[in-house]
Amino acid sequence: MTHQLRAEYGPAGRSGGAKQWHVVRSANLVAALCGRDIEPDAETKPAEEWGTGLRACQQCGSLYMHEVPHMPGDPHR
Ligand SMILES: [Zn+2]
Repeated sequence: MTHQLRAEYGPAGRSGGAKQWHVVRSANLVAALCGRDIEPDAETKPAEEWGTGLRACQQCGSLYMHEVPHMPGDPHR
């Protein structure tokens, strides 16, 4: 797995749930693709959950698509 999803929390902190989800590279779990710093202990999800209804960071999304042209389950792979 080359990428993972990590939560950004809102003003209420983690008790308020994830404000949105960013994509990070597995090699650097505290830096989102969009440049945002991610808390080291923020919740992590597998990248396969991108696009399954999570509130996702738009900028990370477009960068992620660029880095990983073929999504898991893409029938055209
Ligand atoms: Zn982002």
